[in-house]
Amino acid sequence: MPDILAPAPIQTVCDRLLTTYPNATYELDWQTPEQLLIATILAAQTTDKKVNTVTAQLFATFPDLPSLADAAIADIEAIVKPVSFHRRKAQNIQAVAQQLLTQFGGAVPQSLEALVTLPGVARKTANVVLNCAFNLPSGIVVDTHVARVSGRLGLTNQSQAPKIEIDLMRQIPQQQWATWGPAMVLHGRYVCKAKKPDCDRCVFADICPSATVSSVSTATTPQPLSTPTQSMQINLGDWTPWLTDELQKPYFQKLQAFVTQARAQGEVFPPEAEVFSAFALTSPSAIKVLILGQDPYHDNGQAHGLSFSVKPGVKIPPSLRNMFRELEDDLGIPPADTGYLVPWAKQGVMLLNAVLTVNAHQANSHKNQGWEKFTDAVIRMVSDHTDHVVFVLWGGYARKKTKLIDASKHTIIESAHPSPLSARNGFFGSQPFSRVNGALVEHGQGEIDWQL
Ligand code: SF4
Repeated sequence: MPDILAPAPIQTVCDRLLTTYPNATYELDWQTPEQLLIATILAAQTTDKKVNTVTAQLFATFPDLPSLADAAIADIEAIVKPVSFHRRKAQNIQAVAQQLLTQFGGAVPQSLEALVTLPGVARKTANVVLNCAFNLPSGIVVDTHVARVSGRLGLTNQSQAPKIEIDLMRQIPQQQWATWGPAMVLHGRYVCKAKKPDCDRCVFADICPSATVSSVSTATTPQPLSTPTQSMQINLGDWTPWLTDELQKPYFQKLQAFVTQARAQGEVFPPEAEVFSAFALTSPSAIKVLILGQDPYHDNGQAHGLSFSVKPGVKIPPSLRNMFRELEDDLGIPPADTGYLVPWAKQGVMLLNAVLTVNAHQANSHKNQGWEKFTDAVIRMVSDHTDHVVFVLWGGYARKKTKLIDASKHTIIESAHPSPLSARNGFFGSQPFSRVNGALVEHGQGEIDWQL
């Protein structure tokens, strides 16, 4: 990402953070290091509150490692069912219990190298356990809150957790690592929130480089950016610094004129305020996956600016039904009764169409007017300025975009399109959802919870 912020002074950030949250810890309930390890494994992509309701029953039913190691897997699954990926997590926590007994003498090892050999334990989970159970400053826990607030404070311009952690470890004294993560999580959860950062009551307001811009340039409170010649609303949120130059190019000026005129002459989908929803919902610092579609849905009430997604209550279109069918075959997640994919977008799945507008009931009516140039520039920019993103290219049209992507640092998943015309020619059975998560895990990124 481009470096657009002057950082807040680190010593002042540390002092104020630890004064404001002196006893910060994670909101998971645990009594022993083993319980913290299990709770943290269960907490991936799930709220602490939900994990606490599950672990209350889990720890009562299986109060020690031997009882968990010997339990019937179906009994563990039944208890942890409310958390995401419950089957995989049930297997992991049982395997962890077994390995702690057979390889570590029935205790949680106190080294990062040993912890990450356990199933379902990556660096972040290991740091939580070492920081909180043993007060060992093994590293800094970087979750979505820490990543967001650190970026807003200008302490990092990286988008991937491992690189953010390295940036933070370089600046923050090691004796503060163990408390810095939980304190920043609390600050991100309750003050510097993703949607509406509460700068007015933030202890960093006078030193934060984002304080003055947060009300006009966050991912979720984007303001219209108008250009001199046309009146189309362009809400790019945090993408604005990346794309401002693109908006000034002659082709984009022509494109705006075309769309403005089309709206004057008839109905255009999606509604003007939703054309850039994919950008507003998935910021450049949050993007992990880019699923490329082609053209917005062209029937009433369907399109809302995310590829493949329809608004709540709208009948699920055939391509999306096929995606849900493949999701069930791939990960065992039953088809949702909604086609509203915003929860995916909020986890970092950018649902981008190549063309962002369409005339009502006229498929492809806005193709070759300039949108393709714009979205090609977006794909190129994501490829150039992020460290690892999984690009999902379904069908011949999307697969042509591989030339825009640096395959040496990104993952590209290609297959036939999920539409009824082609799903049986290579989409069904392609397992894109588990392959996406596999690539993310391989690169130290959190998995997507595909359940809606
Ligand atoms: S001043 Fe605003 S943007 Fe900066 S850290 Fe505080 S809440 Fe976040």
